Amino acid sequence: MPTYSYGCEGCGKTFSLKMTVAEHDKKKVKCPKCDSRKTRQQLGLFGVKTSKKS
Ligand SMILES: [Zn+2]
Repeated sequence: MPTYSYGCEGCGKTFSLKMTVAEHDKKKVKCPKCDSRKTRQQLGLFGVKTSKKS
C-alpha cells in the first residue's frame, strides 16, 4: 500500500497517509490537526533532489 504525503494549506502541517490507490482516488483528505480539507498532495518528497556528482 503506497504512502501519500500531504501538506495542509490551513495550518501548514505535513502528514502522510497509507491508503490504496482506489481509496486515494475517492478520498477527501482532511488535515488531522485542524480538520481542513485544504490539503495538497506532496509528490516526490524523499530522495528526489539528490543529484550529487561524485
Ligand atoms: Zn491543518
